[in-house]
Amino acid sequence: MLQDSSGRRIDYLRISVTDRCNLRCIYCMPSQGVRLIEYKEILRYEEIIRIVRIASSLGVKKVRLTGGEPLRRRDITFLIKGIASIDGIEEIGLTTNGVLLRKYASSLKEAGLTRINISLDSLDPSRYREITGGGDIETVLCGIEEAERAGLRPISINMVPVRGINDNEIEAFARLTFEKPYRIRFIEFMPIGAREFWSPERYIPEEEVRKRIETIGRLEPSGLNSNGPARYWRFPGAWGVIGFISAISNHFCNECNRLRITSDGKIRPCLFSETEIDLKPVLRGGGNDEELMRLLSLAVECKPSGHGLTPDTRANNSVLRPMSKIGG
Ligand code: SAM
Ligand code: SF4
Repeated sequence: MLQDSSGRRIDYLRISVTDRCNLRCIYCMPSQGVRLIEYKEILRYEEIIRIVRIASSLGVKKVRLTGGEPLRRRDITFLIKGIASIDGIEEIGLTTNGVLLRKYASSLKEAGLTRINISLDSLDPSRYREITGGGDIETVLCGIEEAERAGLRPISINMVPVRGINDNEIEAFARLTFEKPYRIRFIEFMPIGAREFWSPERYIPEEEVRKRIETIGRLEPSGLNSNGPARYWRFPGAWGVIGFISAISNHFCNECNRLRITSDGKIRPCLFSETEIDLKPVLRGGGNDEELMRLLSLAVECKPSGHGLTPDTRANNSVLRPMSKIGG
């Protein structure tokens, strides 16, 4: 079992399968661009499957694939099938921008995907295009419909409200829960990714998002027991639920149950700390499973007890590795 010195049990791996992306979201991709990781440095599927198998023998039960854009990586269903066949893995999720979802939704489901999160920051086509650096919202909406048709449940929609950019759409997103059984999740904007775009003024705390939503109607506890960072509420009678993921105003560090693995094979014990432990020398140097187990345990030992970010964090104190290279 993986347990850190604060007693947190680590049973969740968040794996970035690529640092490549087909969008350039203003809050995520640095405007000067990102130096891409060389292909040969990116973990092969067999290597990822081996890591998950070893992690599962240490008690990891849940895996989420992310990126960059995970659906940009070829034959992702091969990886999902491989992970699904590992004893002890109970959940496999994917976080995607949805651009390629229409094409892949049913094969993802068949391969064994159990959860999907789709990032969507605007419901307005031209604003969506601006935020994403050219994305076409219709493609994403069709992808979401296809995911529903394919039976991927639950469908979670992630929205990052940013002041002056899309905050006037908070209520519209919340209203979607009257029409669809989606989990609409408001993620607090964080000082990570496009560092030059971050400013404390653009950050909107959960409390403010909530107040705006409650102009529509009272929220009640959803009764949904998620053991992730989201806390869920609902409008009485609504089909869907509303979640808040508030890494800054209501941080969940004391419940953090995850390790991240970057696409180039570094374990990152905390999203907001630059500490990384490289698995590749062992993976590619003929190391055995015990050595990999030791590195996973070491990463858990190095896990900081909290991130210490505040709304006033300045960009030059924020995380260096871009979000697309860590895996959000
Ligand atoms: N490309 C996929 C996507 O967009 O869903 C997966 C990777 S993306 C880095 C994962 C999540 O990180 C997305 O929901 C995105 O909105 C979120 N994200 C990226 N930069 C962020 C930031 N600065 N603050 C808050 N969330 C951020
Ligand atoms: Fe790409 Fe996701 Fe970052 Fe947008 S948030 S640029 S889709 S990795």
